[in-house]
Amino acid sequence: MIGKKTILVAGGGGFLGSHLCERLLDDGADVICLDNFYTGSKDNIRHLLPNPGFELMRHDITWPLYVEVDAIYNLACPASPIHYQHDPIQTTKTSVMGAINLLGMAKRLRIPIFQASTSEVYGDPSVHPQPESYWGNVNPIGIRSCYDEGKRCAETLFFDYHRQLGVEVKVARIFNTYGPRMHPNDGRVVSNFIVQALKNEDITIYGDGSQTRSFCYVNDLIDGIIRLMNTPPDVTGPVNLGNPQEFTILELAERILEVTGSSSKITRKPLPQDDPARRRPDISEAAKLLEWTPKVPLEEGLGKTIDYFNKTLSKK
Ligand code: NAD
Ligand code: UDP
Repeated sequence: MIGKKTILVAGGGGFLGSHLCERLLDDGADVICLDNFYTGSKDNIRHLLPNPGFELMRHDITWPLYVEVDAIYNLACPASPIHYQHDPIQTTKTSVMGAINLLGMAKRLRIPIFQASTSEVYGDPSVHPQPESYWGNVNPIGIRSCYDEGKRCAETLFFDYHRQLGVEVKVARIFNTYGPRMHPNDGRVVSNFIVQALKNEDITIYGDGSQTRSFCYVNDLIDGIIRLMNTPPDVTGPVNLGNPQEFTILELAERILEVTGSSSKITRKPLPQDDPARRRPDISEAAKLLEWTPKVPLEEGLGKTIDYFNKTLSKK
């Protein structure tokens, strides 16, 4: 292609995808945002529609597609447990058939392709924190398996297309990321707790709240993704991307109550099946390869996310 690079962002209408589209446009690329709006929303990208470098394509990646682009970012897949468990067969199809379709395009066009993999490939980890060398502890037949095993199979496909066909692949294992444009009803912990706190409704802690997660602010994550895509062709990953600051879910609830000044009470609900007990990325590989470490502390990121939800909820 002549002149500007054209980049395909599959899942560009979602939470992370919309931030990535914005960043790529800011960096001077043309962007084709592909989405079937299964969990994403046009509201996430409405502000980009007038940009002449931005194009929207409604498509489901489980079906083949033919467009001419210079690079592909694959973020298409429901990410919240409630959403990916809603139609588990479609979730696996999206990860596996979607990967085959987009890898086929990358092979035909001889272009680099990024895969948004996940910390879920480590399952309920018995190694802590999780380095990329850890193979994981995943239930193959549980309610989270459609997502975990789908993403694991997608990784397999990415590395086989690389070894067998020479496709330039870049695989990031993304740990819990939060920020503006999370769907208020997608059931993930940060959005749930913030929305509950802002409405002064009960904060729902699943289990005793001692399970841990490590939360990365969206801008930090997008920066890591771009850095990975800009590495030389021999850098394939997988690379962990996430913030290694680890919190119990109870601590998260307390911080959100503090920052919002909410009068919500904490209430307990049963812990979902196969809910990982601990999760924290070892990011030494990202630090070394990408010179990347997250910059935004939890309080600051929560503040920005709370401002976003405050505005969104007051419009409804
Ligand atoms: P999201 O649900 O907001 O975005 C996913 C997007 O993909 C949505 O716009 C959805 O409509 C679209 N989509 C789903 N199935 C599709 C299909 N078959 N064809 C075309 N589009 C489809 O979730 P997100 O948090 O933005 O996650 C983006 C990616 O990052 C996902 O692949 C997810 O697995 C991965 N990831 C996210 C996190 C996180 O904490 N946010 C952590 C690990 C991995
Ligand atoms: N969680 C919770 N209350 C909620 C939503 C989630 O206690 O309202 C817990 C959930 O059981 C898990 C953690 O928060 O232990 C993170 O959940 P999330 O769905 O955000 O992502 P996961 O990391 O499990 O994929």
